[in-house]
Amino acid sequence: MKFRWWAAPLFALCIAMVPSMQDRFAGVEIEAIELTDNISMLIGAGGNIAVHHGEDGLFMIDDQFEPLAEKIQAALQQFGDDLPTYLLNTHHHGDHTGGNPEFGPKASVIAHASVRQRLVDNGMVRAGLPEITYEDSVTLHFNGDTVQIRHFPHAHTDGDSVAIFENSQVAHLGDLFFSGRFPFIDLDSGGSVASYIDAIEELVDTLPEDVQIIPGHGPLSNLDDLRDYFEMLTETSDLVQERIDAGKSLSEMTREGLPEKFAEWGTGFINEERWIQILHRSATD
Ligand SMILES: [Zn+2]
Repeated sequence: MKFRWWAAPLFALCIAMVPSMQDRFAGVEIEAIELTDNISMLIGAGGNIAVHHGEDGLFMIDDQFEPLAEKIQAALQQFGDDLPTYLLNTHHHGDHTGGNPEFGPKASVIAHASVRQRLVDNGMVRAGLPEITYEDSVTLHFNGDTVQIRHFPHAHTDGDSVAIFENSQVAHLGDLFFSGRFPFIDLDSGGSVASYIDAIEELVDTLPEDVQIIPGHGPLSNLDDLRDYFEMLTETSDLVQERIDAGKSLSEMTREGLPEKFAEWGTGFINEERWIQILHRSATD
């Protein structure tokens, strides 16, 4: 083929355009699931969103990735307003806070103090930073409900918030819950397997029996799903601890794998090998 002088810059331009963020999210649709008369869960790409709507306006929990902000805003219109009054970031990860630059200028953003610091460190624009930070717990009185926002230290990260809607028996657990899947635990951002499991145990013991649970990732869940999750976490971490105590190396453990009954848990973002690595590292750090 003859070289065509005009093709070179065109080729370079195509290479530059192909893997853009926008393309990755082009096919994503925002689906709404109604939990109660005034709470819905939005599913798109990234962390699940909760929308609490009523006469005071919208309270939203998490905002996925920035390129989805327009689609999320369009989905919010069915709840009577396209911008939230309050926005909670359950933690700092980009699949939960990516929309902050779009929603932050109009909403009061709430988060644990360490989330604000991590977003500052990661270069979040000023308008997307949380304006209201807290340390242990904070209560939001909104739309006739009482929303307990609680911090669980050193769980998925060092800035995790869980939101419990007291009058509606609904909870959003952020990434303290990957329903039906092995979780990612961000050990480099202050996460810890041991206190993650303690947090889940406390939630299993204290959430109401008929609670509807919005997990950070995975489908709408209930308390039995959270109990299954707790069992998986304790059994797999005990197993890895036993193998460490028996003097086994990480590569021996990943070769041996986990019992067959856990196969389904490894079909998400974190496969069996990565989960064993997280358990091993958290136990030996
Ligand atoms: Zn996360």
